[in-house]
Amino acid sequence: MPALDPSQIAVVLVNTSHPGNIGAAARAMKNMGLSRLILVQPEDFPSGAATARAAAAVNVLENAVVVDTLEEAVADCGLIIGASARSRKLPWPMLNPESCANHVVREHKANKVALVFGREDSGLNNEELQLCHYHVQIPSSPECSSLNLAAAVMVISYELAKCALNDETAGDVAEDEFWDQERATAEENEHFFTHLERVMIAIRFHDPENPRQLMQRMRRLFGRIRIDVMEMNILRGVLSNIEWHIKNREERKQPPRGATIEQIEDALDRDTAARKQD
Ligand code: SAH
Repeated sequence: MPALDPSQIAVVLVNTSHPGNIGAAARAMKNMGLSRLILVQPEDFPSGAATARAAAAVNVLENAVVVDTLEEAVADCGLIIGASARSRKLPWPMLNPESCANHVVREHKANKVALVFGREDSGLNNEELQLCHYHVQIPSSPECSSLNLAAAVMVISYELAKCALNDETAGDVAEDEFWDQERATAEENEHFFTHLERVMIAIRFHDPENPRQLMQRMRRLFGRIRIDVMEMNILRGVLSNIEWHIKNREERKQPPRGATIEQIEDALDRDTAARKQD
């Protein structure tokens, strides 16, 4: 079983109000071998209360990165998992802490991972949850299902550490160890969703005045597939050509062999040639 590479796994705390929770979360992370902490608009940080609760994990706090938005926090990640106590109106691919750990341990060498935790009072909002590929729910009593933030970080981090030590999966070959392309990052996915929405509006498939849950469903669909960078280039190329045709439909011009398409085709050719040589 590959050991955890902590540089590839970020714990992201969104809008935390109590600095003590940030310190306790940092300590839980360090206990379990994690070290990358990203804070999205913390209410009070740096803070003496956080440092006091971090104990021997002060270095995790010192190296913590503070950002303005969750998009920024997860921009370079290929796997994003949001911790949530509640199930949502639109069901999302759901993991338990063990399967969450399995995904992270198997994938984190190939794709940067973000484990996202919400506000103490209201958790993660729908937009934030929809940035995630999976949600992880810690089983708990229905009478009191919501854990303290740092306790939730501990459970998820503990499962990760346990899974990394567990021999059972040692013989499995993780998909990301043999896949030929990296997954698209969150940032690339955001550009894609913006492009997809623009094209769906242009072809009158999507009415922004009456959006229903179309974009959420698209996010869920592509989140389940988790397209790689080559597939992303192809999809972006298809969308660009649709836009070109919309603009030029009266003139019946040939579509330009634009740089993007050529680059994609070159990449596909190179890829095929490389495979023939193997
Ligand atoms: N009252 C909030 C919960 C806030 S607890 C709500 O109803 O959503 C703070 C954070 O800890 C949550 O956003 C979530 O990331 C994590 N958390 C708490 N309990 C959890 C559980 N049972 N499963 C998964 N994550 C949990």
